[in-house]
Amino acid sequence: FPEFSYLKLGMVHPLPEKLIREFAAKVKKLYVIEELDPFIEEQIRAMGLEVAGKDVFPFTNEFDPGVIETALKDKKTTTVRLPEVVIPPRPPNLCPGCPHRGLFHVLGKLKTFVAGDIGCYTLSFMKPLEGMHSCICMGASIGMAHGMSKALKEKGKGKVVGVIGDGTFLHSGITPLLNMAYNQGEAVIVICDNRTTAMTGMQEHPGTGYTLQGAKAKELDIFALAKVLGIDSVRVIDPYDIKNTREVMREELARPGSSVVISRRSCVLFKRHETEIRKPLRVDANKCVGCRNCIGLGCPPIAWRKFADMPADQVIKNAKKQEGNSFIDADLCTGCTICQQVCKVGAIVEEE
Ligand code: SF4
Ligand code: SF4
Repeated sequence: FPEFSYLKLGMVHPLPEKLIREFAAKVKKLYVIEELDPFIEEQIRAMGLEVAGKDVFPFTNEFDPGVIETALKDKKTTTVRLPEVVIPPRPPNLCPGCPHRGLFHVLGKLKTFVAGDIGCYTLSFMKPLEGMHSCICMGASIGMAHGMSKALKEKGKGKVVGVIGDGTFLHSGITPLLNMAYNQGEAVIVICDNRTTAMTGMQEHPGTGYTLQGAKAKELDIFALAKVLGIDSVRVIDPYDIKNTREVMREELARPGSSVVISRRSCVLFKRHETEIRKPLRVDANKCVGCRNCIGLGCPPIAWRKFADMPADQVIKNAKKQEGNSFIDADLCTGCTICQQVCKVGAIVEEE
């Protein structure tokens, strides 16, 4: 809307009154464009300024350019959207190189019920990982897993896992873990310790060793905490190591009593401890047999190329029923090696 001038508020509380008054003095009419309730509009009106808003904008639904245009130009309220442009579906996904991918690849293949929690890792419930089966609210995973182990008794042995992130665990998982230890629950609780609160913007927490202001602080030892709460077995794994992750999960599921597995690896977007730069990987088309094991990880750099869509001179067939091969976008790949570990023919190699 080039004919309209606008003021975009980066901070709405406290409201930047001086800035708003200066802007209002320069325009003929002031509209507030805000979704849902007229929160800012009412505050500006209370400042004594004449303002329009919910007389033309809807109270419900998200705004798109069509809703705003209809309100501003036609002075009509609408929630009708502009015709949708058809784009390829892109479901939300874990980042390339996300450490949770290794863990949930393993969990998705174990025949267990995984009670999940709130965090980036919640995305693992989706295809292709399908490594989580419930998500209720912050901290619910441990109570759900504990409750299930109690309700299912013998039938639930070795079949119940609870998964919770480090930030969520410290926020609301300690009490249910104590409850599980005290009341002799038999679930395996995995604490995804990616050394930050990734989903909400990399906030510090008591386990990172830093305050929210970035000052050095005491670092809570999650391993020692789980032990002192009375958990029978506490293990630490690196979710980039698929074989060990699988072995430890199997061992802990087979073990009687309560168990905590700390899946520790920094968030790939926030590496305070690991500054190591890894080389991206690539698929060697001379070895790829098109089994799609790597595609099953759902890692964004890995794509599938159908032979039917390729020029005949580029088709390299290494297996009888092969219909295509996979391909890694080197610009996106972080070189985490998870896909390399699931490729059974060694077709995923380092870029030269
Ligand atoms: S190494 Fe494989 S799994 Fe890891 S980021 Fe690259 S493509 Fe994804
Ligand atoms: S790169 Fe390996 S895992 Fe991926 S499709 Fe080819 S053979 Fe299968």
